[in-house]
Amino acid sequence: MIRLLNLAVLSVVFLSACSDVGNLKDLVTPFEISDSLETATYPEAISWWRSLEKESPYVCVKEFGETDAGLPLHIVFINTSRNFNHESIKNSGKTLWLVNNGIHPGEPDGIDASMLYAREILSRENFESEFNDLVIMIIPIYNVGGSLNRNCCSRANQNGPESYGFRGNARNLDLNRDFSKADSENARSFIKLFSKWNPDVYLETHVSNGADYPYTMTYLLSHPDKLTPPLNTYLSETISESLKSKMKGKGDEMIPYVNVFGTTPDSGFASFYDTPRYSTGFTALHNSIGLLTETHMLKPFKQRVVSTLNFLNSLGETLVEEGSHVKEARAAANMYLSKQQEFTIDWEIDDSQVDLLDFKGYEAFYDTSEVTGELQLYYDRSKQWEKQIPYLAHLKAKTIVSAPSYYLVPSSWDQVVQRLELNAVEMKLIGQDTIIEFSAYQITDFESSSSPYESHYYHSNVEVEKSSVKREIRANSYYLISTNQLKRRLLVEMLEPKGPDSYFNWNFYDEILQQKEWFSSYVFDPEASEMIKDPEILKALEVFVSKDSTNRNNSRAKLAFLYKQSSHYEGDRHMIYPVYRIE
Ligand SMILES: [Zn+2]
Repeated sequence: MIRLLNLAVLSVVFLSACSDVGNLKDLVTPFEISDSLETATYPEAISWWRSLEKESPYVCVKEFGETDAGLPLHIVFINTSRNFNHESIKNSGKTLWLVNNGIHPGEPDGIDASMLYAREILSRENFESEFNDLVIMIIPIYNVGGSLNRNCCSRANQNGPESYGFRGNARNLDLNRDFSKADSENARSFIKLFSKWNPDVYLETHVSNGADYPYTMTYLLSHPDKLTPPLNTYLSETISESLKSKMKGKGDEMIPYVNVFGTTPDSGFASFYDTPRYSTGFTALHNSIGLLTETHMLKPFKQRVVSTLNFLNSLGETLVEEGSHVKEARAAANMYLSKQQEFTIDWEIDDSQVDLLDFKGYEAFYDTSEVTGELQLYYDRSKQWEKQIPYLAHLKAKTIVSAPSYYLVPSSWDQVVQRLELNAVEMKLIGQDTIIEFSAYQITDFESSSSPYESHYYHSNVEVEKSSVKREIRANSYYLISTNQLKRRLLVEMLEPKGPDSYFNWNFYDEILQQKEWFSSYVFDPEASEMIKDPEILKALEVFVSKDSTNRNNSRAKLAFLYKQSSHYEGDRHMIYPVYRIE
């Protein structure tokens, strides 16, 4: 009932706004109409942005791709030049700042804060001069399917709004785990957009979970230890420090994302390791600065929207002040990348480096739960403390690989080819039969998740052995991909099987893990008895048997071991990773 009333009020407001051309302040948002209790639905949000487009010559709303919900994605451009042509914007040299809202539609603060922010800056008298070097791109709602799945209650920890969308998209995928594997149509549309526009700065808006503390705003950056120099220090020293200072100046002090679940922040916490499945890890592959807002879920909705608005203003002010420095830092990072030979593709928290973080917290206490009979953690918000807590801000290298000169990627695994194309990787189909010398990995060990995670039985702890091979590559069966291109880091992290979010780990090459041909023991046994006349093979069999007692009385296992030494075994395919390296 309340919603119907709001819609009725909205349409009246839009009509009056249209007759009062240029008066942006009349474009009230669903958040304002509902007295800060409601967030805009997908139709309301798109309708509002379309109305803003009508009222302001600096605004253009475009559709940019499909979603799993069968509805389009939208992007709003705000440009003082009143020009929204791709080539013109690229050639203008302006800093491109992309804001992505509603990736988790149950966390809608940015959906509403972005509307308020756009209207506010466009209403400024000095808008043209202030924002002359910045183009702002805003995705009103990214997870369209989740946004349509409106409900009152799926965010158990969260204090408002009265209704909101659901975390999973139309296929129940978490879109902030989908940037590398790109299962969703949403992600594939996004990657295409990102490749085309190559934004310098990316901001994604969320609401947090976890511990209780007084801060409204927490934030995440593309992990500086993972980011290419000198973009890493530029982000951690210049951008981050400016944001902290500006937020404090607005009376909205913020703190790094409180990566604490099931316990308290009293004894400290570690920074978040953002592999490429996450947005800030994905943007790092492109030497683009990634930031996330994570407002505190127990703060009232209105307070969280205001805090997100404060962050948008702080980042906008920072980017205006920084001018061309953002692009310069990116260009320097791309130069560094072009010469980088060794790549860390997996990281871990470095607990030998402990920083101290000034932190305000609430006193924690434990009481016996009437439900479980066990001690349960609670917070007493009337008792606030302030102290320095340990903060494990740094990562250390876990897996380092060298970049080859080229990768050879099989055309038959078209899902991988499609993802490389979406990421604007330059590649060339080898059009004639060619004898090539390359390195191939044999997968010697890996683990798989025992239950599905984001629609995959995801692999980890991959071990490989590399060997040299020289053989003919059939015409049109392989793409030749030079690593001497801007997507150098993306290629290494996605194509090296040990990368935590590599295409291998996300199951795109599982076909090679299955042996296709076998043997009948009664047929192969006579041949096997001939094979063990070779003392080396006999010795190898004895070692195999002695390694595992279950093999001793297992004739099939012994024959299978010998089969793998025979000419029948598909040793050039089974467990051989089909992406090759030309060193
Ligand atoms: Zn979220």
